[in-house]
Amino acid sequence: MNEFAQIFETINFGLIILDPELKVRHWNHWMARHSGIEAKQIIGNPLFDFFPGLNTPRFLRNSQAVLSFGNFSFFSQKLHHYLFSFKPIGAFQTSMFEQMQQNCTMGPLRNSDNQISGLFLIVQDVTELASYEQKLIQMNIKDGLTGVYNRRFLQTRLGEEYNRSKRYGAKLSLIMIDIDFFKKVNDTYGHQCGDAVLQSVATNINCHIRKTDYLARFGGEEFCCLLPETDLPGALVLAERFRRVVEAQTTLCQEHNIKVTISLGVAEFTGEDTAESLLKRADEALYEAKHSGRNRVVSLPSPPAQ
Ligand code: GH3
Ligand code: MG
Ligand code: MG
Repeated sequence: MNEFAQIFETINFGLIILDPELKVRHWNHWMARHSGIEAKQIIGNPLFDFFPGLNTPRFLRNSQAVLSFGNFSFFSQKLHHYLFSFKPIGAFQTSMFEQMQQNCTMGPLRNSDNQISGLFLIVQDVTELASYEQKLIQMNIKDGLTGVYNRRFLQTRLGEEYNRSKRYGAKLSLIMIDIDFFKKVNDTYGHQCGDAVLQSVATNINCHIRKTDYLARFGGEEFCCLLPETDLPGALVLAERFRRVVEAQTTLCQEHNIKVTISLGVAEFTGEDTAESLLKRADEALYEAKHSGRNRVVSLPSPPAQ
């Protein structure tokens, strides 16, 4: 170890060596810096004395497999987020993660007789990578202006929920929502205020759905809400609630108090539907809501079963 110790002390990841009783034999500078525990404090002591949270069946199973069979074990950030509860460093202190995200690798340490004499654990800080990955995922599924889901995501979910309904007969409904006379908002108050209205309408509706529902921006000033496990009467109640909360809201923009209303079309999945025909029926109901006066909820009768 001696001459290599210089490298172990300067590398930018954690390195721990444990003996077969899981007592610490080596604790590099990176581990000391992030844990606040100096090597001289921890060396010779059981790792679990300092990190009782690590004493889990999973950790024990993996370390035993390393010590008995010379296996390698990988603790992926994607599955477990971290092994050691450390604070993120630098810019990532304010990132979306409260704990440093880690990929950890455990492997056998063999002596000159090729006998397993302990195990090593490498801890890699992947907070930066994981943050970018999260942001990419969000950008891919969310609408940039309003923060609700985007159309592509909703269509994927609709396909999945449609298959579930087709196979298991689960209830499924859909609400199409369109802001009334939105062009006039832009023309009167400017595009920026139009954007502010879009944001407040989306946020307001999003507050009134369940965790299992999905609200997406479907087009310019058009939204779609997918309601798994919901029948038509349930969807109509919810649509009417959306209508009322938007009617009651005021968006303050550049000292204007802007009020809008929405029209809504509701459709429930029937055994005869395809995902497209369900969307089409909700869209037709929305069209009917517009043409019968706006600021209202409409559902059309389901097509007769064949
Ligand atoms: P209706 O009641 O029939 O729905 O009338 P409307 O004026 O809402 O409908 P129309 O489809 O004629 O106008 C929609 C407007 O929405 C036109 C477009 O400029 C505006 N729009 C679309 N996307 C955005 C956006 O991202 N921001 C803003 N501010 N306006 C948008
Ligand atoms: Mg409109
Ligand atoms: Mg429209």
